[in-house]
Amino acid sequence: MNFIETRGNDGIKPQEVTFSEAILSPMASYGGLYIPKSLPEFDLSFLKKHISSSYKELARDVLNSFEIDIDGTLIDEALNRYDEFDDATNPVPVVKLEDNLYVSELYHGPTRAFKDMALQPFGVILSSLAKQRGENYLIMAATSGDTGPATLETFKNRDNIKVCCLYPDGGTSDVQRLQMVTEDAPNLKVIGVKGNFDDTQDALKSLLQSKEFNEALEKKNINLSAANSVNFGRIIFQTIYHIHSYLELVRVGKIVIGERINLIVPSGNFGNALGAYYVKKAGVPIEKIVIATNDNDVLSDFINSGKYDLRDRELIKTNSPAMDILKSSNIERVLFDKFGASRTKELMDLLNSKNYFELNSSEVKAIKDDFMASTCSDSEADEIISKYLEKNYILDPHTATAIKAFFEKNDNVLPFVAYSTAEWTKFSMVIAQNASYDAKNDEDAIRFICDKFNVNMVDNIDKLFKKDIIHLKIVEKSDIMPEMLNFL
Ligand SMILES: *Cc1c(COP(=O)(O)O)cnc(C)c1O
Repeated sequence: MNFIETRGNDGIKPQEVTFSEAILSPMASYGGLYIPKSLPEFDLSFLKKHISSSYKELARDVLNSFEIDIDGTLIDEALNRYDEFDDATNPVPVVKLEDNLYVSELYHGPTRAFKDMALQPFGVILSSLAKQRGENYLIMAATSGDTGPATLETFKNRDNIKVCCLYPDGGTSDVQRLQMVTEDAPNLKVIGVKGNFDDTQDALKSLLQSKEFNEALEKKNINLSAANSVNFGRIIFQTIYHIHSYLELVRVGKIVIGERINLIVPSGNFGNALGAYYVKKAGVPIEKIVIATNDNDVLSDFINSGKYDLRDRELIKTNSPAMDILKSSNIERVLFDKFGASRTKELMDLLNSKNYFELNSSEVKAIKDDFMASTCSDSEADEIISKYLEKNYILDPHTATAIKAFFEKNDNVLPFVAYSTAEWTKFSMVIAQNASYDAKNDEDAIRFICDKFNVNMVDNIDKLFKKDIIHLKIVEKSDIMPEMLNFL
Protein backbone atom coordinates (compact mmCIF):
# COMPACT_ATOMS: atom_id res chain seq x y z
CA MET A 1 0.00 0.00 0.00
CA ASN A 2 1.28 3.45 -0.84
CA PHE A 3 1.26 6.62 1.23
CA ILE A 4 -0.08 10.07 0.38
CA GLU A 5 0.24 13.50 1.97
CA THR A 6 -2.02 15.29 4.49
CA ARG A 7 -1.58 18.74 2.91
CA GLY A 8 -1.61 17.65 -0.74
CA ASN A 9 1.31 17.52 -3.15
CA ASP A 10 3.66 20.41 -3.97
CA GLY A 11 4.67 19.15 -7.42
CA ILE A 12 8.25 18.55 -6.23
CA LYS A 13 7.85 15.55 -3.95
CA PRO A 14 6.42 12.36 -5.47
CA GLN A 15 2.59 12.03 -5.47
CA GLU A 16 2.81 8.76 -3.59
CA VAL A 17 5.56 6.97 -1.72
CA THR A 18 6.09 3.47 -0.37
CA PHE A 19 6.05 2.72 3.36
CA SER A 20 9.88 2.52 3.35
CA GLU A 21 10.16 5.95 1.81
CA ALA A 22 7.57 7.41 4.17
CA ILE A 23 9.46 6.23 7.23
CA LEU A 24 12.99 7.07 6.03
CA SER A 25 11.96 10.63 5.05
CA PRO A 26 8.77 11.39 7.01
CA MET A 27 8.31 15.04 6.01
CA ALA A 28 5.72 15.42 3.24
CA SER A 29 4.82 18.42 1.01
CA TYR A 30 4.11 21.80 2.71
CA GLY A 31 5.27 20.42 6.08
CA GLY A 32 2.54 17.75 6.04
CA LEU A 33 2.63 14.09 7.05
CA TYR A 34 2.28 10.75 5.27
CA ILE A 35 -0.87 8.66 5.64
CA PRO A 36 -1.86 5.32 4.08
CA LYS A 37 -3.96 5.68 0.92
CA SER A 38 -6.60 3.40 2.43
CA LEU A 39 -6.99 1.35 5.60
CA PRO A 40 -7.16 -2.43 5.93
CA GLU A 41 -10.27 -4.07 7.36
CA PHE A 42 -10.11 -5.34 10.90
CA ASP A 43 -13.67 -6.62 10.89
CA LEU A 44 -15.37 -9.30 12.98
CA SER A 45 -13.91 -12.15 10.93
CA PHE A 46 -10.41 -10.72 11.46
CA LEU A 47 -11.10 -10.56 15.21
CA LYS A 48 -12.51 -14.11 15.26
CA LYS A 49 -9.46 -15.39 13.43
CA HIS A 50 -7.20 -13.98 16.16
CA ILE A 51 -9.06 -14.97 19.26
CA SER A 52 -6.31 -17.44 20.21
CA SER A 53 -3.38 -15.66 18.56
CA SER A 54 -0.30 -14.53 20.44
CA TYR A 55 0.54 -10.83 20.40
CA LYS A 56 3.19 -11.43 17.74
CA GLU A 57 0.84 -13.46 15.52
CA LEU A 58 -1.73 -10.70 15.70
CA ALA A 59 0.96 -8.09 15.01
CA ARG A 60 2.22 -9.96 11.95
CA ASP A 61 -1.26 -10.12 10.44
CA VAL A 62 -1.94 -6.44 11.18
CA LEU A 63 1.28 -5.45 9.40
CA ASN A 64 0.51 -7.78 6.49
CA SER A 65 -2.91 -6.17 6.16
CA PHE A 66 -1.27 -2.79 5.58
CA GLU A 67 0.62 -4.40 2.65
CA ILE A 68 3.85 -2.58 3.42
CA ASP A 69 7.00 -3.07 1.33
CA ILE A 70 8.94 -4.79 4.13
CA ASP A 71 9.78 -8.46 3.74
CA GLY A 72 8.48 -11.06 6.16
CA THR A 73 11.83 -11.97 7.68
CA LEU A 74 12.52 -8.35 8.59
CA ILE A 75 9.03 -7.98 10.08
CA ASP A 76 9.66 -11.10 12.17
CA GLU A 77 13.02 -9.77 13.31
CA ALA A 78 11.35 -6.51 14.35
CA LEU A 79 8.54 -8.26 16.23
CA ASN A 80 11.07 -10.42 18.07
CA ARG A 81 11.88 -7.31 20.08
CA TYR A 82 8.68 -8.02 22.02
CA ASP A 83 10.45 -11.14 23.35
CA GLU A 84 12.53 -8.78 25.51
CA PHE A 85 9.45 -7.52 27.35
CA ASP A 86 8.68 -8.80 30.86
CA ASP A 87 6.56 -11.66 29.56
CA ALA A 88 7.41 -12.65 25.99
CA THR A 89 4.12 -14.50 25.61
CA ASN A 90 2.10 -11.49 26.73
CA PRO A 91 3.97 -8.20 26.27
CA VAL A 92 0.82 -6.14 27.02
CA PRO A 93 -1.05 -7.41 30.11
CA VAL A 94 -4.62 -6.19 30.48
CA VAL A 95 -5.69 -6.12 34.14
CA LYS A 96 -9.09 -5.56 35.71
CA LEU A 97 -9.21 -2.53 37.99
CA GLU A 98 -12.96 -2.00 38.47
CA ASP A 99 -16.05 -3.89 37.32
CA ASN A 100 -16.20 -1.88 34.16
CA LEU A 101 -12.56 -0.81 33.87
CA TYR A 102 -9.58 -2.69 32.47
CA VAL A 103 -6.06 -1.27 32.30
CA SER A 104 -3.89 -2.17 29.33
CA GLU A 105 -0.29 -1.87 30.50
CA LEU A 106 1.90 -0.64 27.66
CA TYR A 107 5.05 -0.17 29.74
CA HIS A 108 6.60 -3.63 30.06
CA GLY A 109 9.46 -2.93 27.63
CA PRO A 110 13.09 -2.00 28.31
CA THR A 111 12.58 1.71 29.10
CA ARG A 112 9.34 1.26 31.07
CA ALA A 113 7.15 3.52 28.94
CA PHE A 114 4.72 2.95 26.11
CA LYS A 115 7.19 4.41 23.60
CA ASP A 116 8.89 0.99 23.52
CA MET A 117 5.76 -0.59 21.97
CA ALA A 118 6.51 1.12 18.68
CA LEU A 119 10.13 2.23 18.89
CA GLN A 120 11.52 -1.22 19.64
CA PRO A 121 10.34 -2.86 16.38
CA PHE A 122 10.55 0.41 14.43
CA GLY A 123 14.28 0.74 15.18
CA VAL A 124 14.99 -2.66 13.65
CA ILE A 125 13.09 -1.81 10.47
CA LEU A 126 14.51 1.68 9.98
CA SER A 127 18.13 0.70 10.48
CA SER A 128 17.80 -2.41 8.29
CA LEU A 129 16.30 -0.32 5.48
CA ALA A 130 19.09 2.22 5.76
CA LYS A 131 21.66 -0.57 5.61
CA GLN A 132 20.03 -2.28 2.61
CA ARG A 133 20.16 1.02 0.76
CA GLY A 134 23.68 1.87 1.88
CA GLU A 135 22.44 5.18 3.31
CA ASN A 136 23.23 6.88 6.59
CA TYR A 137 20.66 8.64 8.75
CA LEU A 138 20.73 10.94 11.72
CA ILE A 139 17.81 11.02 14.13
CA MET A 140 17.62 14.02 16.40
CA ALA A 141 15.17 14.17 19.28
CA ALA A 142 14.35 16.81 21.85
CA THR A 143 12.86 14.89 24.74
CA SER A 144 11.00 15.66 27.93
CA GLY A 145 11.87 12.19 29.15
CA ASP A 146 10.31 9.14 27.47
CA THR A 147 11.06 9.45 23.75
CA GLY A 148 14.78 9.94 24.41
CA PRO A 149 15.47 6.72 26.33
CA ALA A 150 13.28 4.61 24.01
CA THR A 151 14.95 6.03 20.87
CA LEU A 152 18.47 5.50 22.21
CA GLU A 153 17.65 1.98 23.40
CA THR A 154 16.25 0.82 20.07
CA PHE A 155 19.03 2.25 17.89
CA LYS A 156 22.06 1.52 20.05
CA ASN A 157 24.78 -0.25 18.05
CA ARG A 158 22.51 -0.45 14.97
CA ASP A 159 24.22 0.13 11.63
CA ASN A 160 23.69 3.22 9.46
CA ILE A 161 21.85 5.23 12.11
CA LYS A 162 23.15 7.85 14.50
CA VAL A 163 20.97 9.27 17.26
CA CYS A 164 21.32 12.48 19.20
CA CYS A 165 19.02 13.30 22.09
CA LEU A 166 18.73 16.72 23.66
CA TYR A 167 17.11 16.93 27.09
CA PRO A 168 16.46 19.91 29.37
CA ASP A 169 18.91 19.73 32.28
CA GLY A 170 16.79 19.36 35.42
CA GLY A 171 13.62 18.90 33.36
CA THR A 172 13.39 15.10 33.52
CA SER A 173 13.17 12.61 36.37
CA ASP A 174 16.44 11.03 37.60
CA VAL A 175 15.44 7.72 36.08
CA GLN A 176 14.70 9.26 32.69
CA ARG A 177 17.99 11.17 32.72
CA LEU A 178 20.01 8.12 33.79
CA GLN A 179 18.34 6.01 31.08
CA MET A 180 19.84 8.44 28.56
CA VAL A 181 23.23 9.44 29.98
CA THR A 182 24.29 5.86 30.77
CA GLU A 183 23.63 4.55 27.22
CA ASP A 184 27.01 3.47 25.93
CA ALA A 185 27.29 3.00 22.16
CA PRO A 186 29.42 4.79 19.54
CA ASN A 187 26.38 5.82 17.44
CA LEU A 188 24.63 7.63 20.30
CA LYS A 189 25.02 11.15 21.62
CA VAL A 190 23.16 12.72 24.53
CA ILE A 191 23.38 16.41 25.39
CA GLY A 192 21.85 18.19 28.37
CA VAL A 193 20.69 21.69 27.51
CA LYS A 194 20.56 24.57 29.99
CA GLY A 195 16.92 25.63 29.96
CA ASN A 196 13.47 24.05 29.91
CA PHE A 197 11.87 21.70 27.37
CA ASP A 198 10.67 24.60 25.19
CA ASP A 199 14.25 25.97 25.03
CA THR A 200 15.48 22.51 24.10
CA GLN A 201 12.91 22.17 21.31
CA ASP A 202 13.73 25.65 20.02
CA ALA A 203 17.42 24.80 20.04
CA LEU A 204 16.76 21.67 18.01
CA LYS A 205 14.59 23.56 15.54
CA SER A 206 17.21 26.21 14.89
CA LEU A 207 19.92 23.58 14.56
CA LEU A 208 17.88 21.69 11.95
CA GLN A 209 17.31 24.93 10.02
CA SER A 210 20.90 26.13 10.16
CA LYS A 211 22.80 26.23 6.90
CA GLU A 212 26.10 25.28 8.48
CA PHE A 213 24.60 22.17 10.05
CA ASN A 214 22.85 21.06 6.87
CA GLU A 215 25.99 21.59 4.80
CA ALA A 216 27.94 19.50 7.26
CA LEU A 217 25.37 16.69 6.96
CA GLU A 218 25.51 16.85 3.20
CA LYS A 219 29.28 16.73 3.17
CA LYS A 220 29.22 13.62 5.32
CA ASN A 221 26.42 12.07 3.28
CA ILE A 222 24.04 11.89 6.21
CA ASN A 223 20.26 12.21 5.77
CA LEU A 224 17.90 13.41 8.46
CA SER A 225 15.03 11.20 9.56
CA ALA A 226 12.72 11.34 12.61
CA ALA A 227 11.59 8.86 15.21
CA ASN A 228 8.74 10.80 16.79
CA SER A 229 5.13 9.99 15.99
CA VAL A 230 5.10 12.14 12.83
CA ASN A 231 6.75 8.98 11.48
CA PHE A 232 4.08 6.51 10.34
CA GLY A 233 6.51 3.72 11.20
CA ARG A 234 5.61 4.46 14.82
CA ILE A 235 1.85 4.70 14.23
CA ILE A 236 1.59 1.32 12.50
CA PHE A 237 2.91 -0.46 15.63
CA GLN A 238 0.48 1.59 17.73
CA THR A 239 -2.56 0.06 16.07
CA ILE A 240 -1.83 -3.52 17.20
CA TYR A 241 -2.38 -3.21 20.95
CA HIS A 242 -5.79 -1.58 20.52
CA ILE A 243 -6.97 -4.74 18.74
CA HIS A 244 -5.22 -6.81 21.41
CA SER A 245 -7.10 -4.93 24.19
CA TYR A 246 -10.39 -5.71 22.49
CA LEU A 247 -9.50 -9.39 22.13
CA GLU A 248 -8.40 -9.58 25.78
CA LEU A 249 -11.86 -8.42 26.91
CA VAL A 250 -13.35 -11.17 24.76
CA ARG A 251 -10.93 -13.73 26.23
CA VAL A 252 -11.85 -12.92 29.84
CA GLY A 253 -15.54 -13.13 28.95
CA LYS A 254 -16.33 -9.44 29.54
CA ILE A 255 -17.73 -9.09 26.01
CA VAL A 256 -18.50 -11.31 23.03
CA ILE A 257 -17.05 -10.48 19.63
CA GLY A 258 -19.10 -7.68 18.11
CA GLU A 259 -19.97 -5.89 21.37
CA ARG A 260 -18.57 -2.43 21.73
CA ILE A 261 -16.02 -1.00 24.20
CA ASN A 262 -14.63 2.44 25.00
CA LEU A 263 -10.92 3.27 25.03
CA ILE A 264 -9.22 5.92 27.17
CA VAL A 265 -5.89 7.27 25.95
CA PRO A 266 -3.59 9.62 27.91
CA SER A 267 -2.63 11.95 25.07
CA GLY A 268 0.07 14.39 24.02
CA ASN A 269 1.13 14.17 20.41
CA PHE A 270 -1.96 12.02 19.68
CA GLY A 271 -0.01 9.10 18.20
CA ASN A 272 -1.51 6.56 20.57
CA ALA A 273 -5.04 7.91 20.04
CA LEU A 274 -4.54 7.99 16.26
CA GLY A 275 -3.73 4.26 16.33
CA ALA A 276 -7.04 3.73 18.15
CA TYR A 277 -8.89 5.87 15.60
CA TYR A 278 -7.56 3.87 12.64
CA VAL A 279 -8.48 0.60 14.32
CA LYS A 280 -12.01 1.87 15.04
CA LYS A 281 -12.37 3.01 11.46
CA ALA A 282 -11.10 -0.34 10.21
CA GLY A 283 -13.96 -2.12 11.95
CA VAL A 284 -13.05 -2.95 15.56
CA PRO A 285 -16.20 -2.27 17.65
CA ILE A 286 -15.03 0.78 19.56
CA GLU A 287 -17.74 3.20 20.67
CA LYS A 288 -15.65 6.19 21.73
CA ILE A 289 -11.99 7.07 22.14
CA VAL A 290 -11.69 9.20 25.25
CA ILE A 291 -8.77 11.62 25.08
CA ALA A 292 -7.33 12.21 28.55
CA THR A 293 -5.27 15.38 29.00
CA ASN A 294 -3.58 17.15 31.92
CA ASP A 295 -3.83 20.90 32.58
CA ASN A 296 -2.40 21.49 29.11
CA ASP A 297 -5.89 20.73 27.86
CA VAL A 298 -5.74 22.09 24.33
CA LEU A 299 -6.81 18.69 22.95
CA SER A 300 -9.82 18.47 25.26
CA ASP A 301 -10.88 21.97 24.28
CA PHE A 302 -10.49 21.08 20.64
CA ILE A 303 -12.65 17.97 20.87
CA ASN A 304 -15.33 19.74 22.92
CA SER A 305 -15.47 22.99 20.94
CA GLY A 306 -13.73 22.46 17.59
CA LYS A 307 -11.39 25.35 18.45
CA TYR A 308 -7.66 24.75 18.45
CA ASP A 309 -6.55 27.89 20.19
CA LEU A 310 -2.96 28.56 21.27
CA ARG A 311 -3.25 32.35 21.38
CA ASP A 312 -3.37 32.74 25.15
CA ARG A 313 -1.76 29.50 26.12
CA GLU A 314 1.58 28.89 27.76
CA LEU A 315 2.88 25.44 28.44
CA ILE A 316 2.19 24.40 32.04
CA LYS A 317 4.70 22.12 33.72
CA THR A 318 2.79 19.17 35.24
CA ASN A 319 3.54 15.82 36.88
CA SER A 320 2.71 14.12 33.55
CA PRO A 321 5.40 15.76 31.36
CA ALA A 322 4.93 13.44 28.35
CA MET A 323 1.52 15.10 27.92
CA ASP A 324 2.82 18.68 28.32
CA ILE A 325 2.24 19.59 24.71
CA LEU A 326 0.54 22.43 22.84
CA LYS A 327 0.92 21.54 19.17
CA SER A 328 -0.24 17.97 18.90
CA SER A 329 1.18 16.66 15.62
CA ASN A 330 -1.18 13.79 14.85
CA ILE A 331 -4.42 15.77 14.98
CA GLU A 332 -3.45 16.62 11.43
CA ARG A 333 -3.90 13.01 10.35
CA VAL A 334 -7.43 12.94 11.80
CA LEU A 335 -8.28 16.21 10.04
CA PHE A 336 -7.07 14.74 6.77
CA ASP A 337 -9.03 11.56 7.25
CA LYS A 338 -12.25 13.42 7.93
CA PHE A 339 -11.98 16.57 5.83
CA GLY A 340 -9.41 15.92 3.07
CA ALA A 341 -6.10 17.51 2.07
CA SER A 342 -7.12 21.03 1.06
CA ARG A 343 -9.11 21.67 4.25
CA THR A 344 -6.28 20.19 6.32
CA LYS A 345 -3.74 22.47 4.66
CA GLU A 346 -6.01 25.45 5.26
CA LEU A 347 -6.41 24.61 8.97
CA MET A 348 -2.73 23.86 9.56
CA ASP A 349 -1.71 27.06 7.77
CA LEU A 350 -4.05 28.97 10.10
CA LEU A 351 -2.54 27.30 13.13
CA ASN A 352 0.96 28.27 11.98
CA SER A 353 0.12 31.87 11.08
CA LYS A 354 -2.61 32.75 13.62
CA ASN A 355 -2.04 30.16 16.37
CA TYR A 356 -5.72 29.34 15.97
CA PHE A 357 -8.25 27.48 13.88
CA GLU A 358 -11.88 26.61 14.32
CA LEU A 359 -13.99 23.82 12.80
CA ASN A 360 -17.54 24.46 11.61
CA SER A 361 -20.43 22.76 13.40
CA SER A 362 -20.72 19.75 11.08
CA GLU A 363 -16.97 19.19 11.39
CA VAL A 364 -17.17 19.34 15.19
CA LYS A 365 -19.89 16.73 15.03
CA ALA A 366 -17.69 14.50 12.89
CA ILE A 367 -14.93 14.70 15.51
CA LYS A 368 -17.38 13.92 18.32
CA ASP A 369 -18.59 10.82 16.48
CA ASP A 370 -15.31 9.21 17.47
CA PHE A 371 -13.86 11.16 20.36
CA MET A 372 -14.67 12.40 23.86
CA ALA A 373 -12.32 14.34 26.12
CA SER A 374 -11.47 14.66 29.78
CA THR A 375 -9.02 16.83 31.72
CA CYS A 376 -7.15 15.97 34.90
CA SER A 377 -5.17 18.36 37.11
CA ASP A 378 -2.13 17.23 39.13
CA SER A 379 -4.17 17.26 42.34
CA GLU A 380 -6.92 15.15 40.75
CA ALA A 381 -4.23 12.73 39.54
CA ASP A 382 -2.82 12.61 43.09
CA GLU A 383 -6.23 11.60 44.42
CA ILE A 384 -6.42 8.74 41.94
CA ILE A 385 -2.86 7.61 42.70
CA SER A 386 -3.53 7.61 46.48
CA LYS A 387 -6.83 5.79 46.09
CA TYR A 388 -5.19 2.90 44.21
CA LEU A 389 -2.09 2.84 46.42
CA GLU A 390 -4.48 1.82 49.18
CA LYS A 391 -5.60 -1.03 46.94
CA ASN A 392 -1.99 -1.92 46.14
CA TYR A 393 -2.09 -0.96 42.48
CA ILE A 394 0.61 1.59 41.69
CA LEU A 395 -0.09 3.85 38.77
CA ASP A 396 1.92 6.71 37.29
CA PRO A 397 0.63 10.28 36.84
CA HIS A 398 -0.04 9.83 33.09
CA THR A 399 -2.12 6.73 33.70
CA ALA A 400 -3.96 8.54 36.50
CA THR A 401 -5.39 11.01 33.94
CA ALA A 402 -7.01 8.07 32.15
CA ILE A 403 -8.47 6.61 35.33
CA LYS A 404 -9.93 10.02 36.21
CA ALA A 405 -11.56 10.04 32.75
CA PHE A 406 -13.13 6.66 33.51
CA PHE A 407 -14.85 7.95 36.65
CA GLU A 408 -16.07 10.96 34.69
CA LYS A 409 -17.43 9.02 31.70
CA ASN A 410 -18.50 5.66 33.11
CA ASP A 411 -22.27 5.15 32.77
CA ASN A 412 -22.14 1.39 33.41
CA VAL A 413 -23.19 0.61 29.86
CA LEU A 414 -20.05 -0.34 27.91
CA PRO A 415 -16.74 -1.47 29.41
CA PHE A 416 -13.66 0.78 29.27
CA VAL A 417 -10.04 0.00 28.55
CA ALA A 418 -7.67 2.66 29.92
CA TYR A 419 -4.08 2.73 28.72
CA SER A 420 -1.24 2.79 31.20
CA THR A 421 1.55 4.57 29.38
CA ALA A 422 4.38 4.54 31.93
CA GLU A 423 5.55 2.48 34.85
CA TRP A 424 5.43 4.31 38.20
CA THR A 425 9.21 3.84 38.58
CA LYS A 426 9.77 6.69 36.13
CA PHE A 427 7.81 9.12 38.30
CA SER A 428 8.50 7.71 41.73
CA MET A 429 8.86 11.08 43.52
CA VAL A 430 5.17 11.77 42.87
CA ILE A 431 4.18 8.30 44.07
CA ALA A 432 6.26 8.60 47.26
CA GLN A 433 4.64 11.95 48.01
CA ASN A 434 1.22 10.32 47.69
CA ALA A 435 2.37 7.70 50.18
CA SER A 436 3.34 10.57 52.55
CA TYR A 437 7.07 10.00 52.14
CA ASP A 438 9.42 12.87 51.47
CA ALA A 439 12.00 11.17 49.24
CA LYS A 440 15.50 12.56 48.63
CA ASN A 441 15.65 11.38 45.03
CA ASP A 442 14.22 8.76 42.65
CA GLU A 443 16.35 5.95 44.05
CA ASP A 444 15.22 6.69 47.58
CA ALA A 445 11.59 6.95 46.45
CA ILE A 446 11.71 3.69 44.49
CA ARG A 447 13.28 1.75 47.36
CA PHE A 448 10.70 3.13 49.77
CA ILE A 449 7.76 2.20 47.52
CA CYS A 450 9.11 -1.28 46.78
CA ASP A 451 9.52 -1.90 50.48
CA LYS A 452 6.21 -0.47 51.61
CA PHE A 453 4.05 -2.03 48.90
CA ASN A 454 6.02 -5.23 48.63
CA VAL A 455 6.88 -4.97 44.94
CA ASN A 456 10.06 -6.16 43.29
CA MET A 457 12.46 -3.65 41.85
CA VAL A 458 12.53 -3.91 38.05
CA ASP A 459 15.96 -5.14 37.03
CA ASN A 460 16.58 -2.45 34.39
CA ILE A 461 15.83 0.29 36.90
CA ASP A 462 17.88 -1.25 39.68
CA LYS A 463 20.97 -1.51 37.46
CA LEU A 464 20.54 2.06 36.30
CA PHE A 465 21.68 3.56 39.59
CA LYS A 466 24.98 1.67 39.42
CA LYS A 467 25.89 2.30 35.78
CA ASP A 468 28.66 4.70 34.70
CA ILE A 469 27.61 8.04 33.32
CA ILE A 470 28.81 8.23 29.71
CA HIS A 471 27.34 11.51 28.52
CA LEU A 472 28.44 14.28 30.85
CA LYS A 473 27.92 17.30 28.61
CA ILE A 474 25.51 20.02 29.75
CA VAL A 475 25.74 22.96 27.37
CA GLU A 476 24.28 26.35 26.50
CA LYS A 477 22.02 26.33 23.45
CA SER A 478 24.73 28.00 21.36
CA ASP A 479 27.18 25.16 22.05
CA ILE A 480 25.00 22.37 20.66
CA MET A 481 26.21 22.84 17.08
CA PRO A 482 29.95 22.36 17.80
CA GLU A 483 29.10 19.33 19.95
CA MET A 484 27.09 17.83 17.11
CA LEU A 485 29.65 18.54 14.41
CA ASN A 486 32.26 16.92 16.57
CA PHE A 487 30.07 13.84 17.09
CA LEU A 488 29.31 13.46 13.37
C1 LIG B 1 4.41 9.80 24.90
C2 LIG B 1 3.59 9.57 26.10
C3 LIG B 1 2.23 9.94 26.14
C4 LIG B 1 1.53 10.65 25.01
O1 LIG B 1 1.37 9.83 23.90
P1 LIG B 1 1.00 10.46 22.47
O2 LIG B 1 1.01 9.32 21.55
O3 LIG B 1 2.10 11.46 22.18
O4 LIG B 1 -0.32 11.13 22.60
C5 LIG B 1 1.52 9.67 27.30
N1 LIG B 1 2.11 9.10 28.37
C6 LIG B 1 3.40 8.74 28.37
C7 LIG B 1 4.00 8.17 29.59
C8 LIG B 1 4.20 8.96 27.23
O5 LIG B 1 5.49 8.61 27.26
